[in-house]
Amino acid sequence: MRVDADVAVVGSGFAGSLAALALLKRGRRVVLVERGRHPRFAIGESSTPLANLLIEELSDRYDLPRVRAFSKWGPWQRARPDVACGLKRGFTFFFHQPGAAFADDADRQRQLLVAASPHDEIADTHWYRPQFDQALAEEAQAEGAVYLDTTRLERLRHEADSTILEGERDGRSVRITARFVIDASGPRGFLHRALRLDEAPRRWLPATQGLYTHFEEVERWDRLRPTSEPPPYPIDDAAVHHVFPGGWIWMLRFNNGLTSAGAALIDPVAAALGAADGAAAWSRLLATVPSVADQFRSARAVLPFVHAPRLAFRSARVSGPSWALLPSAAGVIDPLLSTGFPLTLLGIMRLVELLERSSVGRDRDAALLAYERVTLAELDATERLVTALYATMDDPPLFKRLSLLYFAAASFSEAARRLGRPELAPGVLLSAHPTFGLELAAC
Ligand SMILES: Cc1cc2nc3c(=O)[nH]c(=O)nc-3n(C[C@H](O)[C@H](O)[C@H](O)COP(=O)(O)OP(=O)(O)OC[C@H]3O[C@@H](n4cnc5c(N)ncnc54)[C@H](O)[C@@H]3O)c2cc1C
Repeated sequence: MRVDADVAVVGSGFAGSLAALALLKRGRRVVLVERGRHPRFAIGESSTPLANLLIEELSDRYDLPRVRAFSKWGPWQRARPDVACGLKRGFTFFFHQPGAAFADDADRQRQLLVAASPHDEIADTHWYRPQFDQALAEEAQAEGAVYLDTTRLERLRHEADSTILEGERDGRSVRITARFVIDASGPRGFLHRALRLDEAPRRWLPATQGLYTHFEEVERWDRLRPTSEPPPYPIDDAAVHHVFPGGWIWMLRFNNGLTSAGAALIDPVAAALGAADGAAAWSRLLATVPSVADQFRSARAVLPFVHAPRLAFRSARVSGPSWALLPSAAGVIDPLLSTGFPLTLLGIMRLVELLERSSVGRDRDAALLAYERVTLAELDATERLVTALYATMDDPPLFKRLSLLYFAAASFSEAARRLGRPELAPGVLLSAHPTFGLELAAC
C-alpha cells in the first residue's frame, strides 16, 4: 500500500484527529496512522474551561461545527448523546491525613471547591476517550483523511524533501511519503523512538508513578457525606482530587455509569504500596484513605489496572526541519491540574498555523524552533507549579494558595481570549506574561 500525503499524522487520539481535521480544512492531504483500533481505552479525561475555549476557537477557525458541540456539556448532550462524557462543574480538592477519616473544621481548611461554570449547560466535561477519540477519528475520515489503523510503523527515512514511513498493516507492507510528520502518538511515542531523541532529565518534579482504571458502582461523596449548606456546585460533578502526603487520587464520573479513578504517587509511597501489584495495591491505597474507601465499597474495576512506572516524561527535542511532536508527545508532567489538554490544543493550533504560513526553508525552520522553545517553556512552567504542589501536599493552606495561582492564570487567560485579546495572556499559566510569569516562577 502506498500513500502520498502532505502531512502524516501519527496517532489518532483526539489530538492527532483534531490536527488532521484542521489541516484537511486548509486543503492539505493528510494520512492519519494509528497502531491500534478504535474504540480503545485512553487516559487523560478531564477538560477545563481553557481547554474547551480552545476547542471552540479551533472549531471556529477551521469551520468544524460538529467538533464545536464537544466544547460544552449542554450542546454535547444534544448533538452527540451517543458519545459518553462526564459533567465537570469545578475542581474539588479534599486533603486527607493518612489512615484517618476525612474531617474538616468550620473554616473548611482541608478542602477547596473551585467552581468552573455557573450551570450545567455551559459546563466542562470529562471525555470518555474510547468514544470521544473514535468520534473525532471518524470526523477526520469523513473530511477526507486517509486513515490507517492497526498499522505498525517500522522505519523512517528522509529522501529529498520528503519523509518516508514504512511499516505493515494486516500483513501488507505500507509506504507513506509525506512532506511533514506530526507526532501525536503520546509520550515516548513514535518519533521519539524512531529518531532516537534523548529524554530530557527530570528537573524539579519528584519521580511519580500512576495506578488507574475505570470502575462501576462508585458511590458519590455527597451522598455519603451530605453538607448542611449547599456547595457551590455538586461536589462529585467535578474533577475530584483526594490529596495526601506523597500523592493524590482522581475521580471523574461519566454519564454511562463508569468512573475513572486512579492515583499519582511519589516513588516511596508507590513502593510502600507495591503499586505494580495493580488491584491489590489499589486496595492497600484505599485503606490509607478510609473516606475514599467508603465510596468504593461496592465498586468493581471494569478493566485491568494500569501501572505506569514513570508518569512524567520529557523529550529533549520537539521539532526538526520536517517533523514536530505535539506537546502531548513532547512531554507529560502530571494530571494534577488537567494541563495536558490545553497544552496540546495550543500546540495543535500553533503547528497548523505554522504549516499554513511558512513554506519550506529558513522561515519554517525558525518557526519550528520557536514552536519547540514555547512548548518546552510551557512544560517547564507546568512542572514548576505541579512540583510546588507536590511539595505542599502535607500543608493544605499553602497547597491551596499555590493552586489558586493556576486558577487565576486560567481565569485570566479565558477572559482575555473571550474578549478577543489572547495576546494579553501569553503562554499556558501566563508563563510568558512579563509580570505574572516571573512571579509565578519565583513562587
Ligand atoms: C495518568 C494521566 C492522567 C491524565 N489526565 C489528564 C486530565 O485529566 N486532563 C488533561 O488535560 N490531561 C491529562 N493527561 C494528559 C493527557 O493524557 C494527554 O494530554 C492526552 O491524552 C493527549 O492526547 P493525544 O491524542 O495526544 O495522545 P494519546 O491519548 O496518548 O493517543 C496517542 C495515540 O497514538 C497511538 N500510537 C502510539 N504509538 C503509535 C505508533 N508508533 N504508531 C501509530 N500510532 C501510535 C496510540 O494508540 C493512541 O491512539 C493525563 C496524563 C496521564 C499520564
